[in-house]
Amino acid sequence: MKKLLVIIESQKSGWKATDLDILGFFEKQDNLEVSAFALGEKPEEIKKTPSALKHVVFNKELQFYNPKALASVVTSYLKKKSFDFVISTSTLKTKDYFPVVCANLKSPYFNEIQEFKLSKEGILSLTKSLYSGKAVCQFEISQQSSPIFCLFQANQVKASYKIGENYSNFENYSNFENYSNFEISLEKNPIQHLEFKKREGNLKDLSEAEIIVSGGRGMQNPENFKFLEELAKTIGATVGASRAVTDAGWRPYNEQVGQTGKTVSPKLYIACGISGAIQHLAGMQNSKCIVVINKDSSAPFFKKCSYGLVGDLFQILPLLNQALKKP
Ligand SMILES: Cc1cc2nc3c(=O)[nH]c(=O)nc-3n(C[C@H](O)[C@H](O)[C@H](O)COP(=O)(O)OP(=O)(O)OC[C@H]3O[C@@H](n4cnc5c(N)ncnc54)[C@H](O)[C@@H]3O)c2cc1C
Repeated sequence: MKKLLVIIESQKSGWKATDLDILGFFEKQDNLEVSAFALGEKPEEIKKTPSALKHVVFNKELQFYNPKALASVVTSYLKKKSFDFVISTSTLKTKDYFPVVCANLKSPYFNEIQEFKLSKEGILSLTKSLYSGKAVCQFEISQQSSPIFCLFQANQVKASYKIGENYSNFENYSNFENYSNFEISLEKNPIQHLEFKKREGNLKDLSEAEIIVSGGRGMQNPENFKFLEELAKTIGATVGASRAVTDAGWRPYNEQVGQTGKTVSPKLYIACGISGAIQHLAGMQNSKCIVVINKDSSAPFFKKCSYGLVGDLFQILPLLNQALKKP
């Protein structure tokens, strides 16, 4: 039986939800032995812990963005343990430190994976999109000499994971700010963390959001984004934007969706006043359901959407918000 490790990011509020989805997905496969390893900030509530979680490292050095420390902990862990596959969610953090771990261990690395299938004969097939979604690439791997590292696009796999009270592995945990239940040696870190500034606006990162409401040049000015923010609040969505908007300075760059922005794959993507240029579609075409609001019926986005509303967004958005607010 092949061994698979899911790396989970731990945060003060708990375990990263998209990593738990991945864990739940793999635990349902019968030809894999699945375990998990968590690292990051000490969660407030350790009692709610996935049963597959065997080892944890909570350390101040890992609390903030620190790719060198993350790479060094994961490398030292994997030098002691043996796995066939190492999996996590594709995030800014993992995209930075996974390649370093792979280089350290001379292992292959696949990013933005959409499908992972392991046959009874042990042949692995992976699917990912290429060239801004214009092509789909499939890899088949029948032999391996080191663990294969894969980062999954967020929300590609969904399997609700039931967290029970499985914390017996972590006795004496609550006494320590820095805690690990296996031996790690953290290299002296050249990166010093000076300050943490909380970003205003979106609480949930775009690449992990389940619902996104995005605005384009059709929003006309930055003040009008209040219509999107109100709708986002009503339906628990995260606000995104086209490049025309971020280039104009109406919204911050971390909200840009597309080829040169973030790749997102929410359950629902609502595009308001966005024409649907190929570079925008490249970042969101894996969304499960796409709703387009545009006053121009010939906008290219209408060819790519699940539902289209031809009309003025300034009339539609307040009505939509009102209707969705009703109990
Ligand atoms: C190398 C490269 C990389 C790029 N990367 C990205 C990227 O990552 N992300 C990205 O988004 N773009 C990217 N672009 C830019 C992209 O080509 C488009 O220029 C951009 O997406 C257009 O943004 P937009 O749809 O908001 O604006 P526009 O194309 O101007 O469209 C505005 C739309 O709003 C509609 N509209 C106007 N008023 C209303 C109203 N009242 N009600 C309803 N609809 C209305 C209009 O009909 C129109 O369709 C890139 C371009 C290049 C060359």
